[in-house]
Amino acid sequence: MSDQPSPQSLRTEAIETLLIEKKLLTSEAIDTVLTTFSEQVGPMNGAKLVARAWVDQGFKARLLEDATTIVQEYGFEGGQVDKLIVKACSESVHHVVVCTLCSCYPWAVLGLPPRWYKDPGYRSRIVREPRKVLTEMGLTLPDTTSIKVWDSSAEIRYLVLPLRPAGTEDLDETALAELITRDAMIGVAAIETPS
Ligand code: FE
Repeated sequence: MSDQPSPQSLRTEAIETLLIEKKLLTSEAIDTVLTTFSEQVGPMNGAKLVARAWVDQGFKARLLEDATTIVQEYGFEGGQVDKLIVKACSESVHHVVVCTLCSCYPWAVLGLPPRWYKDPGYRSRIVREPRKVLTEMGLTLPDTTSIKVWDSSAEIRYLVLPLRPAGTEDLDETALAELITRDAMIGVAAIETPS
C-alpha cells in the first residue's frame, strides 16, 4: 500500500504533465522552485537573524522594530513575509505562534510549515491552554513566565526570537545559528545548551 503513489501525487503529476504539454510551464522552472525550497528556503534563514540578534544589540533592536525590511535586505527567497513581526522571549514572557484560521507561516525565514502546525488540535488548543500544549510538546515553562500566543494571518506573520541558552558565551554567530531550531522560532521549544 505504501508503495503506491498517493492520489494527491498522481493528481500533481498529471497537472504538471498537462501544463508542460500546453507549454504553460517548463520542467526547468519546476526544478528551480524545488531546488530553491530544498536548499535556500528554510529555518536556516530565520536562524541567521536570531543568531545575529543575540550577538548584536543594535541589530536586535532593528529586528524587533522592522523585521520586514531586514528580511528584504537579506534577500531571503520563499515569500510569505510581506509583513513580518519578531517577538523576543524573555524570562518573564514567552511567545508562541499559531494560525488559528489555516496555516499562515513565514516561509522565507522558516520554510514550509510542519504538519502539526496545520493540525486543528494545535490551532485551537494552543490558544485555550497554551501552557498545557507546550508541556505536551516538551517545553515546560516556569509558572512565573507568562505566555503570549500570536495568531498569524494572510497579512501578518510572526517569528519568535528565543532566549539565548546559558553556556554559549564563547560561541560565534555561525556556531550559534547552528543551535537554533525551527520549533524554537515558532515558540514550541527552547534552545538547549550544547553538551
Ligand atoms: Fe493561515
